[in-house]
Amino acid sequence: MVFQKIDRQIIELIKDIIPEHSRVLTDKNDLAGYSFDASFGTYFPEVVIQPLTTQEAADIVKLANEKSIPIYPRGQSTSLSGGPLPVEGGIVLDLSRMDQKLDVIPEDLIVIVSPGVLTGAIHEAAEKYGLFYPPDPSSSAISTIGGNLAENSGGPRGLKYGVTKDYVLGLEVVTPQGDIIRTGGKTVKNVTGYDLTKLIIGSEGTLGIITEATLQVIPKPPSTATAMAIFDDVVTSGKAISTILTSGILPSKIEMIDQACIAAVEDYSPSGLPLDAEAILLIEVDGKPLSVAEEIQEVGEICRSSGARNVVMATELSQQANLWKARKMVSPAITRIKPTKISEDATIPISKIPDMFEKLKNIKEKYQLDLVIFGHAGDGNLHPNILADKRDSDEMKRVEQAVKEIFEAALQLGGTLSGEHGIGTMKSSFLEMELGPVGLDMMKRIKESWDPNGIMNPGKIFPGKDQVFSLMEGE
Ligand SMILES: Cc1cc2nc3c(=O)[nH]c(=O)nc-3n(C[C@H](O)[C@H](O)[C@H](O)COP(=O)(O)OP(=O)(O)OC[C@H]3O[C@@H](n4cnc5c(N)ncnc54)[C@H](O)[C@@H]3O)c2cc1C
Repeated sequence: MVFQKIDRQIIELIKDIIPEHSRVLTDKNDLAGYSFDASFGTYFPEVVIQPLTTQEAADIVKLANEKSIPIYPRGQSTSLSGGPLPVEGGIVLDLSRMDQKLDVIPEDLIVIVSPGVLTGAIHEAAEKYGLFYPPDPSSSAISTIGGNLAENSGGPRGLKYGVTKDYVLGLEVVTPQGDIIRTGGKTVKNVTGYDLTKLIIGSEGTLGIITEATLQVIPKPPSTATAMAIFDDVVTSGKAISTILTSGILPSKIEMIDQACIAAVEDYSPSGLPLDAEAILLIEVDGKPLSVAEEIQEVGEICRSSGARNVVMATELSQQANLWKARKMVSPAITRIKPTKISEDATIPISKIPDMFEKLKNIKEKYQLDLVIFGHAGDGNLHPNILADKRDSDEMKRVEQAVKEIFEAALQLGGTLSGEHGIGTMKSSFLEMELGPVGLDMMKRIKESWDPNGIMNPGKIFPGKDQVFSLMEGE
């Protein structure tokens, strides 16, 4: 794909569409702030545009399509897979300022939102009405609903409540030709034609720009309780997860934190986690108070009989909040181990969690890397993170080999490359390994029919010809 460079004349055409020229950024210092995300690599856009309305976004996309300019939708850039990176230059469309609408309609159990609204703000708005928007990526305080929709984000509550796609009734989308369409509607039941809503969700900004979403909310569970189960062995903690999940109790969250992550959190912000544990599980149950009290006791007993050294109960809201705050701290805390963080989210069926722990232990030893594990263990969505230093090319080579083996391990166990972070630039080389050549080709054909000029987030999901996985690129 050959794209046109942005010259003075195109900037003038952009300024004709965007009345406040302060929302068209071309200064190198401004562009630098849009050259990275939470993953890997640095790529400068040629211009950043901040639309405030669907019509502005549509007019910009129309122009980009006519002039063959790549366009990169962006929320808050917390992607862990390279999703918003402008790898071909062109336009970054910053949707974080399109955050005007957050309408809770309690009588229909829906919320209508603009794409730039932070997910945490949706949680708060729904809760004012006793309602609950379950998807809860750990980044909910800093990521946009547009980004969550484009990545089909999950989170700890995925175990019981599912992920973003399970709570979307309809979308407004700007197509790669600059047309505005609506998919789905406001009802839970809707089987009119193909399900374009589900096609757009998780398409990582490669099929269009989401400019509004109608989300489903449910009644908020009145009570929660949390247990912290402490283990001397990671694999035993994995076996305990399977035992809990086959006991007839469905916790709302089961999160795992390994020893290295515990140490990092305690160093970063002391939270009272047991430094001598090899792993802890944080398990939350929710529902009516009486059943919550009963279930959390049962969970504690199961953990003890499955090999937990100790189980600490947190029933007061403040104690629970403290434990979950410690869990949210893991990601920032581990970056102090080494400066380069490669965050994976290979996901396996729940019965295979102990096997995956075993495989990750072996990979860590084989490549002598700082490989730590935490994440949404209850639904098999582990987050093995490798901490390295990108200036050390020998170490980065070992990281590349380890990452490949992590993906192979997940697929051998019947899992997937990515449970929630998406493919972006980071996993595209491995896509065929999971989908096979025909599956990959069918996806490419969908992309080509939606976006024949290939302007919408090019360089993402699909591997380039003869592309080889490298962590040396783009640095
Ligand atoms: C500390 C931390 C914790 C995290 N925890 C989780 C977690 O628990 N679960 C999880 O799933 N993820 C998690 N993430 C990853 C990340 O937060 C999510 O992928 C999030 O949805 C990205 O939102 P964003 O607003 O930052 O989008 P960006 O990173 O800006 O963009 C993400 C993708 O969405 C596209 N996009 C953005 N807005 C739109 C739009 N309006 N229309 C079309 N495409 C669009 C972009 O092109 C890109 O491909 C975490 C990240 C961090 C840094």
